[in-house]
Amino acid sequence: EACERLQRIRSHVRLVPDFPSPGVLFRDISPLLKDPDAFKAAIELLETHLRATYPRIDYVAGLDARGFLFGPPLAQRLGIGFVPIRKKGKLPGPTESVSYALEYGQAELEIQSDAVEPGKKVVLVDDLLATGGTMHAACELMKRLKAEVLECLVVIELLSLKGAEKLQPFRCHSLLQYD
Ligand code: AMP
Repeated sequence: EACERLQRIRSHVRLVPDFPSPGVLFRDISPLLKDPDAFKAAIELLETHLRATYPRIDYVAGLDARGFLFGPPLAQRLGIGFVPIRKKGKLPGPTESVSYALEYGQAELEIQSDAVEPGKKVVLVDDLLATGGTMHAACELMKRLKAEVLECLVVIELLSLKGAEKLQPFRCHSLLQYD
């Protein structure tokens, strides 16, 4: 049953070659969001995994922007709060920010300093783990706030880029894996 639901999710991820730049194979989750059964299956599988793994979670923190699509419904189902981690310059201060390297250039993630209290247990959520650079920066923000990262949770993991290794010692869990 879980297997059928995973299959339904997988069949609603569209492959787009050469987006946003030549050579990149983009995994487009728009068809997944558009299909209520597939979207619901994804949220339910994420919820089931978290309930089975952690006796207590304080917050779901979502990464700008597609982590905002999966994080809030998941937090609602768990009955806990959602915290946004945004690209720099979007949140009123005081904030903490961490810059990280992209393939070309730099980017910066930001969180409000009071978003997560010290010692609270957090699950970080995004749609996709590629190199892990973005998720690594989010883990760094949680360290700054002295929060505990239970794990990094994504719908899709691109195994060949070894993002999960980059995130160690933090744990990573994904619903779908691609080479
Ligand atoms: P990274 O920091 O390399 O792990 O990249 C992760 C972020 O970039 C996520 O927020 C993804 O939404 C996005 N991303 C990276 N590669 C892809 C891809 N092939 N298809 C779709 N989104 C991607």
